[in-house]
Formats: sequence, C-alpha cells, structure tokens
Amino acid sequence: MDSFLKSVILESYGNEPHHKSNSYELADIFIKDGVIEKIDRTAISAFDISSEHFFVTSGFVNSHLHPNQLLDRRMLDELSITNLLSAMHIVQKKNDEDRYHQAIFVLLDVLKSGATGVYAIASRPEPVIRAFNDIGITGALNCVFNDVWEGKGNVPAQISLQDVEKKFSKYFESNCENLKIHIGSASILTASNELLTLFNDIAIRYNTRVNIHMSEGIESVEACRKNRGTTPVRLLENLGILNERWNLIHATTVDEEEIKLIARSGASVIHCPVSNAKTGVGIAPMRAFHKHGVNIAIGTDACSNNNTNNILNEAYFATLLHNAVHEDPLVFNEEIIFKWLTTNGLKIIDSPSTGKIEVGQRADLLL
Ligand SMILES: [Zn+2]
Repeated sequence: MDSFLKSVILESYGNEPHHKSNSYELADIFIKDGVIEKIDRTAISAFDISSEHFFVTSGFVNSHLHPNQLLDRRMLDELSITNLLSAMHIVQKKNDEDRYHQAIFVLLDVLKSGATGVYAIASRPEPVIRAFNDIGITGALNCVFNDVWEGKGNVPAQISLQDVEKKFSKYFESNCENLKIHIGSASILTASNELLTLFNDIAIRYNTRVNIHMSEGIESVEACRKNRGTTPVRLLENLGILNERWNLIHATTVDEEEIKLIARSGASVIHCPVSNAKTGVGIAPMRAFHKHGVNIAIGTDACSNNNTNNILNEAYFATLLHNAVHEDPLVFNEEIIFKWLTTNGLKIIDSPSTGKIEVGQRADLLL
C-alpha cells in the first residue's frame, strides 16, 4: 500500500550528522508497503511553522510492559513490591482467551501514547503472540520460565529445568522480523543459577536475548544475598553470563561497582520510574548509568504497577524525577530521552529499525 505525508514538519534529533539537535524541516514523505521510499526535505525556520503543519516523529518503544495486566489497574495501589507481586499472582485468574483480549486492549492502549514498538513479558506467551500478530505492532516478547521461588507470598508458576528449552523452542517458532522471541524469568528470586545459565546458553544458540527484573528494591537484593551469597548483578557476573544479550528491568538497587559491571558487560537497563515510585523500591541511578555509557530504554511496566500504559507520561516523569533528585533542570535533555524512547528501545527488541526517519526505514511514524 502506498501512502504520502505531505508538508509535515520533520524533527531531526541527529537524523543527519550536520543537523543541530532539535532543528526542523518541511518534508514530503513517500511510503510504500510500510517502508519510507523517498523524503523531499526543505529547511524551515521554527517561526514559519503554522497550524496547517503536522509534526512527524519516529514511533516510540515501550520497553517493558505486562500485556496481561489491565483489569487490576487501580486495584493494587499502596502495596509494597512484595505484597504487590504476591497479589498479582492471585487477583486475576485468567484463561488464555482473557489473556488474548487483555493483550489486544493493552497493545491498542500503548499505541495511543505513541508506542509503535513494545517489549512485553508473559508467562503464557501463546495468547500474547496471537495479539501481537493480529494488531501488527512491532516488538519482542520475553517468554518467562521460573524454576524456584525465593520470595514471599504466593508462588508463581514453575517449570523443571529440562522442559525449558523444549517449550521455548516451540514459542521461538513465532520469531520473525516484527516480533522477536526472547527468554527470561520474573527475577533472580524465581530462577536458579542453573536456569540463569541455561537462559544465556539458549540466548547464544538461538541468537536472542534474556530479559529479567533485576535488583528491584532492597528486599529482593537482600534475598539474593542470603540465598546466593551475593547481589543479583554480581551473581550474573560470577556465573560468567552478564553480557550484551541481557536486558535488565529496573536496576534501582545497585551500587557503583554494579553499575560499572553492567556498563562493561554491554547489558541494557530498562527504566520504569513510575512503577518504581509507586511500589517504593527506589530511584534507579540513571545519571550514573548514562555517564558510564549503558544502553538505556524506558517502559511502563504492568498496568497494576503504574495505572497507565502511557510511555510519554513515563518519559516526562523520568525527566522531572532525575532533575529533582540531582537538583538540576537539565540532567537529561530531550535528545537523550528521545533516544531512550526510540533508538535504544529498538536495539533491545532487536528491531532492524534505527528510530531515524530515513529512506529504507519502517514507516513507524507519529503525527
Ligand atoms: Zn515488570
């Protein structure tokens, strides 16, 4: 199908090396079969932008989303992370049809806030894969496997170690350009050292990635120290598996040495500031991660941990939060946050898109 966007204002956060950040162009964009085929550009002054013009920008990536958490929005407020996780395991008794319909609704909700890419997590992947395919949104899905439970409260579903790859290989049949299939666990509390090592082996053999909630508050870090003798990030390092294939969600409760370990390994960090604030697990040290060159993306987490799936709200909250923490209104400028929302997120979902509006790129655009 052919499309034509006439006279749109093109943002150019680094779209071309010679452009200064935040400059504008008037552009006609020709799209064929969902791919940008041609762009006619004319430089324009900000003073010449009128109400006739539309702004166009790259689609965003919501880099952490639980697509089956919707109906418990507003039902799990004022709970600690331990109590919330326990409640999440019992509040919604769902069958696969429920999961499919919730995933459809959540993915549409995500699109409304500008996310054309989604990094989802699910312990029952089939209905979510179906929803991704039916909507046609780009993304990755972390298929969750747990084999231990070292937390408190209700026990999440578990699987024996020898069944993991058989199940994963079945889900991996859905791996395609639009939807990448990743592997992971709910957290270190739900994955033995053997399972963590198996994830890494599978990630290498299938050329995919591992996604896991990591160091989400002091309680989970202390539990890891008690049960495994060290902190979660050091555990991965000691097992010899912390590398660029690992996408770590949260990382609120890490020390300076762990930040450097993550940076050196090439692993990515997914920042979910609203969820972290709501559950009171702390504020991730994003300025330090950024300073050390860690690839940072941003996500809304489960709707029950946030009460919305709005990625723009998340980005706005992140800028305010870190400005407040560091008493500096320019901790992260819009260009940095824009990269979290686009390029960096696309990288962790293994998208062939770069997040730049260029010929040959997917036309995942926002008007
Ligand atoms: Zn989560």
